[in-house]
Amino acid sequence: MGTLDKTKEIIKLERLYGVNDYKSIPVVLERGDGVFLWDIEGKKYYDFLSAYSAVNQGHCHPRLIRALKQQVNNLTLTSRAFHNNKLGIYMKYATEYFGFERLLPSNTGAEAVEASIKIARKWGYTKKNIPENNAEIIVCKNNFHGRTTTIISFSSDKASKENFGPHTSGFIEIPYNDIESLKETLETHPNVVGFLFEPIQGEAGVNIPNPEFARKAKDLCSQFNVLLIADEIQTGIGRTGSLLALCGSCNCSGHCERQIETYVRPDLLILGKAISGGTYPVSAVLCDGHIMEVIKPGQHGSTFGGNPIACSVAIEALEVIRDEKLTQNARKLGIRFRKTLQHYIDKSKIVLSLRGRGLLNAATINNTEGCDLAWNICLKLKENGLLAKPTHGNIIRFSPPLVITDTQLDDCIKIIISTFKSFEP
Ligand SMILES: *Cc1c(COP(=O)(O)O)cnc(C)c1O
Repeated sequence: MGTLDKTKEIIKLERLYGVNDYKSIPVVLERGDGVFLWDIEGKKYYDFLSAYSAVNQGHCHPRLIRALKQQVNNLTLTSRAFHNNKLGIYMKYATEYFGFERLLPSNTGAEAVEASIKIARKWGYTKKNIPENNAEIIVCKNNFHGRTTTIISFSSDKASKENFGPHTSGFIEIPYNDIESLKETLETHPNVVGFLFEPIQGEAGVNIPNPEFARKAKDLCSQFNVLLIADEIQTGIGRTGSLLALCGSCNCSGHCERQIETYVRPDLLILGKAISGGTYPVSAVLCDGHIMEVIKPGQHGSTFGGNPIACSVAIEALEVIRDEKLTQNARKLGIRFRKTLQHYIDKSKIVLSLRGRGLLNAATINNTEGCDLAWNICLKLKENGLLAKPTHGNIIRFSPPLVITDTQLDDCIKIIISTFKSFEP
C-alpha cells in the first residue's frame, strides 16, 4: 500500500468506527519535534495550531518527555484515597508560580471550569448567604469554556448546545467587552456569585477586549462582592506574551516585561492546556484559601486529578516556560508576525484583518461563515507545509509553539503570504 493510500485508509478508520465530531484537516501525523510535525508520508510541517495552544513548549520537549518517563517508571496513579509524593510539591510550586494560595487539581479544561463553577456557587451559599439553588454566574456571549452539559448550557453556539438539553440554569449572558452590561446585571441581580470570562476569546476568533475591560470588571466584582473567574486555559502560560493574558510581571518572576500595575488578579484562575506542554491532560483552578476552604472532604474529587505523572510533567512544563523565556519570545515574535503580515494584508482583497497578542493571532478571511474559502486556504497551507485550522468558518488562527525562532517565523510568514496570494482575485 502506498503512503497516500495509507493516509486515506487511516482517516477512513475514524470515519467508519469513530464519532464524526471534528472536521479535521486531512493529514495523519506521526511525529513531532519543537515547532515541527511529520505526517506518515514523511512530509514535514510547521505547526500553527499547537493543539489549541496546549503545546506552547513545542512538541516532545526533551525535558517534558524525560520528566514523564522518570515518573512512569516509579508511580502512575494512586487516586486521592492516599497521598502521592508529588502532589504537595506540585501544589506548592504552582501556587507560588502563579501567586495564589491554593490549587485544585484536575485533568481537562472543561473539568476545571466545572470545578470553578462549583466553588463559586458554594462560596455564594456559604459566604454570601445566597438562597439555596439561586446562585447565578454571569458569562459572555460567544464564550468557549468546554463541552460538558453544564458548560454548553451557557454557550451561544447553536451547534454546541442544540438538542443537548435540558440545559443547566443559573447563567446570565452579557455581551463580551461590555462593562456597562456587567454593571447593570450586577445591580439588578443580587444572587450573582461570579463573572466567568476569557481575557481574550480564543475559539470565538481571538477577540481582544478594550485594555481597561478586565480592570473595570475586577473593580465591579469587588464592589458587588462577586468572584472574578478568569478562564486562561488557552490564553495562559506565555501564549499572549505574558504569563497570563491578565498579567503584568506580577508574580511571574521575570517571565514577562509588563508592569505590575497592569496585572488584574482574578479570584479564580482556570488553567489547562499548556500547563502540561501538551504531554498529559492537566488542568487546575487556583484561588486563595478563604475561597478554596468552602470545599470539604467528599464534596469534590477526580480519580486522575493530581496524579503523580501530571504533577511531575506540569512542574517541568512551567520550568521550561521560565528557563527558555518563552513568554518573552511570544511577545517579541508576535509583534514581528503582525507587523510583517499587516503590510501584506493592507493590500489584500481576501484577508480583511489580523489581530492578536503574543503568538495568539487570527486573520479574518473575506467570506461569510459557512463559505469554504478559509478552509481551502488551510488545505493549501497544508500543501505548502504549514498546519492551521479555521475557527467559525472565516477566521484562521495562527498560534505556533512558543519555541519558534525568528528564522522559522520568517519562513512561516513567507508560506502564509504566498498561500494567501494564490487565492487573491
Ligand atoms: C480548550 C478550552 C477549554 C476546554 O478545555 P478541554 O481540555 O478541551 O476540556 C476551556 N476554555 C477555554 C478558553 C479553552 O480554550
